[in-house]
Amino acid sequence: MPLVSMRQLLDEAAKGGYGVGAFNVNDMEQIQAIMGAAKETNSPVIIQASRGARQFAQDKYLFHLILAAAELNPEIPIAMHQDHGNSFETCKSAIELGYTSVMMDGSLKEDGKTPATFDENVAVTKKVVDFAHPRGVTVEGEIGVLGGVEDGHGAGGSGLEHITDPDQAVEFAERTGVDALAIAIGTSHGAYKFTKKPDGSVLKMDVLIKIHQRLPNTHLVMHGSSSVPKDLQDIVNEYGGKLKETWGVPVEEIQLGIRNGVRKINVDTDNRLAMTGAIRKVLWTQPEKFDPRDYLKPAREAMQKVVATRMTQFGQAGHAGDYKPVSIAVIAKGYADGSLTTKPLVAAR
Ligand SMILES: [Zn+2]
Repeated sequence: MPLVSMRQLLDEAAKGGYGVGAFNVNDMEQIQAIMGAAKETNSPVIIQASRGARQFAQDKYLFHLILAAAELNPEIPIAMHQDHGNSFETCKSAIELGYTSVMMDGSLKEDGKTPATFDENVAVTKKVVDFAHPRGVTVEGEIGVLGGVEDGHGAGGSGLEHITDPDQAVEFAERTGVDALAIAIGTSHGAYKFTKKPDGSVLKMDVLIKIHQRLPNTHLVMHGSSSVPKDLQDIVNEYGGKLKETWGVPVEEIQLGIRNGVRKINVDTDNRLAMTGAIRKVLWTQPEKFDPRDYLKPAREAMQKVVATRMTQFGQAGHAGDYKPVSIAVIAKGYADGSLTTKPLVAAR
């Protein structure tokens, strides 16, 4: 099966009332872990690469690994997504490479650090939409600014500094025509999201629910949504790691989000922890080992286990065969003739 439009994947998720995990990749083992989990749970899947990942692996290596994943798993719908594009150029290069979806994170300026103005965000996001849609490519925008820094991208600070304003979210969706909207509700990138189990004072699920009420048909995206489970932290620390105690986004809060319009959930940290824990365990308990396969295989298995668990928790499990993916050329026609709407349904306050 060729790569699928993320828009189609999210539209189907909305119909089915489930969320789809978007998992970050940098190398072959991570791609194989995700595909193993997708196969095991019969899930549609979003694979995403940050700018850092594209640099680390080199575009061609990474993209051809994804094509191999699609070729080997024809029954699994796969969308390939650029995570946190910082500029029109970054998104354009991903689209030209063959990505079926891009995120234009115009909440920050091109440096990926400084918060942008609302009008700057609208302008650059709209420019990406105008380039992407005629090519059948999906666009995710971001309104509000997430906390933390990951892969050199982020404004830093806590996730509470630039919480999304629901009125601005409506205006942003109307003016840009994005297919999916990332919102800031207190979450941060990286492992250190919360210093205690998050409650309503730091994780603003009420804001998410408000935005969903105003934009009932818009696909919402939760970033920084690893759950950072204690057992994964413990394995890292048991075998010589030095992670400080930290809390992520509890799965039940993500599930509350899914009941309120969240269709894409970004998960990276949990997979990083799972792989690192598995590698540490081998190197710590069997110091005589030196064949990379001796630790990469358990690392891949550990990540597959986390991804399969999330796929089941997000509800995407079992849905790979629900629909027939159409080509992105057909999706492009849909945007052109209006059968795929980019005008959000807006409910009164
Ligand atoms: Zn993100």
